Amino acid sequence: MRASVQRIAQRPETDVLILGGGINGAAAARELALQGIDVVLAEAHDFAYGASGASSHMIHGGIRYLEYGEFRLVKESVQERNRLLRHAGHRVRPLPTFIPLRTTLTGLLNAPLRFLFKDYRGVPAERGALMIKAGLVLYDTYSRASRKAAGLKRHSFLLGRQAVRRAFPDLRPDTRFVAQYQDAQVESPERLIIDLLSEAEDHGARIANQLALTGTTASTIDASDGITLTDQLTGQHIQVRPRVIINATGSWVDLTNRDLGHETSFMGGTKGAHLVLDHPQLLEACRGGEIFFEHQDGRIVLICPLGERVLVGTTDLPADPGEVPECSDEEYEYLLELVQDMFPTIPISEEHVVHTFAGVRPLPRSNADATGAITRDHHIVHLSHSMRGTRNGRVKSIEIPLLCLVGGKLTTFRAVGEQLTDQALDQLDRDRIRTTRGRDIKGMIRGDDPTKDCEAVVGSTYARALVKRYGSYANEVADFIAHLIDSGTDPDAAHPLAHTRELLRGEVAWMAEREHATNAEDILRRRTNLRFNGIVRQDTALSVEAGKDTAAQGDVGEDALVREIEEILEASTARA
Ligand SMILES: Cc1cc2nc3c(=O)[nH]c(=O)nc-3n(C[C@H](O)[C@H](O)[C@H](O)COP(=O)(O)OP(=O)(O)OC[C@H]3O[C@@H](n4cnc5c(N)ncnc54)[C@H](O)[C@@H]3O)c2cc1C
Repeated sequence: MRASVQRIAQRPETDVLILGGGINGAAAARELALQGIDVVLAEAHDFAYGASGASSHMIHGGIRYLEYGEFRLVKESVQERNRLLRHAGHRVRPLPTFIPLRTTLTGLLNAPLRFLFKDYRGVPAERGALMIKAGLVLYDTYSRASRKAAGLKRHSFLLGRQAVRRAFPDLRPDTRFVAQYQDAQVESPERLIIDLLSEAEDHGARIANQLALTGTTASTIDASDGITLTDQLTGQHIQVRPRVIINATGSWVDLTNRDLGHETSFMGGTKGAHLVLDHPQLLEACRGGEIFFEHQDGRIVLICPLGERVLVGTTDLPADPGEVPECSDEEYEYLLELVQDMFPTIPISEEHVVHTFAGVRPLPRSNADATGAITRDHHIVHLSHSMRGTRNGRVKSIEIPLLCLVGGKLTTFRAVGEQLTDQALDQLDRDRIRTTRGRDIKGMIRGDDPTKDCEAVVGSTYARALVKRYGSYANEVADFIAHLIDSGTDPDAAHPLAHTRELLRGEVAWMAEREHATNAEDILRRRTNLRFNGIVRQDTALSVEAGKDTAAQGDVGEDALVREIEEILEASTARA
């Protein structure tokens, strides 16, 4: 049995069982563990497998939500954005944002009408400069108190075609104004989730991926003692006896409830796809910021630098949570076309696309005509779940609270974790012992820079790379690598894998042992950005076999994993 699963199986009693290891499940695990609550988190696939690994990477208030009257959400989001800039600076950075505009007045009437009458569908009119100005004033006001501490500037405007042309020579020539303001970006939401989970584990949380609540029918629930979880790698079943369940399975919330024996229809997710382009000229044309604009069809889209690449997104289409989302041919064409439309003189073609991805937004069920009009705000629904458990030494049928998270953006994860925790504490009749509002997320670098400590083990270039990937605990990774070398386990642990300079052999072992990676895909897609950046090409299959075979025997088998990743890298290089 895998060590992580064994830790749960050995002691099935727990205060809270969290289902789902996306950003919100991870945030709740951290928050609860910090209150001294015993937590188990089970993720059916890998952490960040769902929407959290398919987002636009924006940590933002969502200026466009103002139009729909989502003032509470926008206020909470800008405050959380500012907190993350202060307390997760190793992951979240300020992002200059530019809105190119062609008109002054349009959209002024539609917005208040849409706000007052939610079903209002006037003649679509492009949002003009005055309307954007009104939105930005409100946006700045919401974050006035914390904006300066977060190092963000107020909004401003470039006025007139000449000023625009000087600053953005490649933008479409009919652009008359550019609104400029600052939001934020998380380069790797996947690694942010690992930070949260790791902090939760440091405070006693028991966490496993590839461990799912699966198709338990009502009759087997009655027969079972607690909640049955299945190890997806081995097929083994284990029992957990929680006092509270949190269903944080995103767009799968209703499917998870069904597996628990409850018929619900809370969710109505929409699919969004992205392209990643390797295009230095386009990257340069963005001037270090996100180009955020309204495409011809009224959809709000973005062209955004992310490291050395350019991220383009996104679509918003009705989705079936049971299907694995993919970027369709139509979405691919649509996204390429919108980049060309905004930058008409820059040649853009399929050969620049190094990666595509799609995800389903976990939105509440809605009968809004347009997917863009569905609220992005979240709420928590309480159900009562009946199962067999022990009370006062006697086994009997008991009712436990089942808290279902409906919605929840990436940006607001800390606040969502806090709200889930407060409601769980209430159910457990326990008090909050600390707040996370001013607490650094694990990995935040304050004071001593860990680079020097790493240099002695991996040299200066890789020391910087380790600090970028792991933040303040990079020196723990370096110590781990040093131990692999000194113990003779892997004398080459400080060397990169064959066919790449982006990943050390010892890091693969670290990711397998400390970050729950069980296969090559976990490492290439969610522990590193090798797939995202196109270093592992889109058309190279990511086998998941090496980890699977060995993990079934209770050990992920780092050597097999290293060999497999090297084969994938070799195949990818051969195709390039
Ligand atoms: C295209 C797109 C762009 C977006 N852009 C942004 C953005 O720029 N900024 C922003 O703030 N938000 C953005 N969002 C929204 C944001 O990504 C999501 O709202 C957020 O990540 C949801 O996190 P979650 O943890 O609730 O759900 P998820 O990340 O979907 O996690 C749910 C997890 O539950 C697991 N699971 C499912 N069934 C089971 C089971 N039976 N047992 C155990 N585990 C199970 C899944 O494997 C999954 O990992 C975007 C979303 C999409 C799709």
